[in-house]
Amino acid sequence: MQGQMMNRPLLISGLMEFAERIYPNNEIVTRRVEGDIHRYNYADAAKRCRKLANALARLGVSSGDRIGTLAWNTHRHYELYMGVSGMGAIVHTVNPRLFPEQILYIINHAEDRVLFVDLTFIALLEPMAEQLTSLEGIVVMTDRAHMPDSSIKGLICYEELLDAESDQYEWPVFSEETAASLCYTSGTTGNPKGVLYSHRSTVLHAQASCQAGALNISLDTTVLPVVPMFHVCAWGSPYAATLTGAKMVFPGPHMDGASLHELIDAEQVTLALGVPTIWMGLLAYMDEIGKTLESVESVVVGGAAAPMSLIQQFEEKHGIFLIHAWGMTETSPLGTVNSNSRVMKSMPLAERYQLQAKQGRPIYGVSIKIVDDEGIELARDGVAFGRLLITGPWIADSYFREDHSENFIDGWFDTGDVATISPDGYMQIVDRRKDVIKSGGEWISSIELENVALGHPGVAETCVIGVAHAKWDERPILLVVKKPGETVSEGDMIDYLTGKVAKWWLPDAVVFVDELPHTATGKLLKMTLRDQYQSYLLGR
Ligand code: AMP
Repeated sequence: MQGQMMNRPLLISGLMEFAERIYPNNEIVTRRVEGDIHRYNYADAAKRCRKLANALARLGVSSGDRIGTLAWNTHRHYELYMGVSGMGAIVHTVNPRLFPEQILYIINHAEDRVLFVDLTFIALLEPMAEQLTSLEGIVVMTDRAHMPDSSIKGLICYEELLDAESDQYEWPVFSEETAASLCYTSGTTGNPKGVLYSHRSTVLHAQASCQAGALNISLDTTVLPVVPMFHVCAWGSPYAATLTGAKMVFPGPHMDGASLHELIDAEQVTLALGVPTIWMGLLAYMDEIGKTLESVESVVVGGAAAPMSLIQQFEEKHGIFLIHAWGMTETSPLGTVNSNSRVMKSMPLAERYQLQAKQGRPIYGVSIKIVDDEGIELARDGVAFGRLLITGPWIADSYFREDHSENFIDGWFDTGDVATISPDGYMQIVDRRKDVIKSGGEWISSIELENVALGHPGVAETCVIGVAHAKWDERPILLVVKKPGETVSEGDMIDYLTGKVAKWWLPDAVVFVDELPHTATGKLLKMTLRDQYQSYLLGR
């Protein structure tokens, strides 16, 4: 027997309509690409989203068309999130930090019809514009006064495009399974792969991420997504903020310590989201000026493991709880979250930090498990480690226009991560499968070694890779970027690590470098380093 309840589709336009009706005056603040602060509210935003939908229709955009963006976190990018998806088209957020050939590949692969671009990226676009064969129009996200001189002909001005339209528009109603947005993963090998989110997956993910046991976003929250809107939709935070009416603060292109601090202070941000490197920059700046982040209650850290030193610094210097989260482009991205709890608050700090360093528990809606190479499920005992698999309504089922069926097994997605799961449900990432170091048949977690080494006060960044070894197949070497003005030797690092990790985990060499290479989403480019250092230990 079927239930007798209404089957109203979960649509992104519904989020916007709700915010306009219930929280019309709640603010959205942006540090614009042009440099100044822009301020409006959900009612203003909703009006402009309707104008945008009218403008897109006038440009000939219809349901299912891909609309590219090369843009920072701003109110205009937010309007594209809502307006493009709302009318039934697909907002395709392109990561401008990718190599130009990858940008070219993904815009052509997605067959974007129109591209919306921030002023910053015009120069990046100019040399490839001729080769972007699917594009029928390029819109520059600025006003007439700031329109650039460019070799690209026929650039459209965003503000003029909107000014010409009515703010009356009926959002169409369609199946919630309809595609809403598209984001490509920035894998280190092969072409980027497209993940195509639906309205249903986006709304369910937004609802789940607001829960107290997840990111705890409510009407009282002021959210600062530092994580880019071109990287897994700023972890879904613009949708989550809209459904709760939370105040939203967009940092634009300015993500250095001074700019972030100024914005956080001026707008009284309570929740900020970003990758570890962003926070290390901000904390170093706060140390320099000798101030604390007064308004912030929690920071969400994901995209890479949160180092213990980061958890500790936020807590002890700023009274901020670090919410450690794990996810991927393929998982919308929230998979597990390590949120605060009464039990945690009553723990001795050192014990709590150990727990916080784990990537957390699955949020309701998703399930995770670990399996061995034969696909046999492993014990949830916090010790056994294996391939991490995930399933749920906001987890990808396949890639856009590519067959990678090897990643999808019996309704589960193989994440490529190796993890443990404890009896009380906490997942801990051991490593990416390709980064784990196999020394004499035993496994060493490069992530854990990096994190411990980062605790050394003279160290700014660390990277551990496995390189060829005559006896043990592979052994770890530690690459270190020192903090400016610090003197640290190989012996100092080994002494520091001794007693903190198993003896056989101690790196065979410590190499000091000026900088480390990163991917377009800020992760360490270990493949390049492995190639470079592959024979480092062989001649020793
Ligand atoms: P991306 O699709 O670019 O967001 O990258 C996803 C990958 O980032 C995951 O498969 C993990 O390897 C890594 N990752 C994300 N969050 C964490 C975390 N909290 N700790 C460790 N690794 C993480």
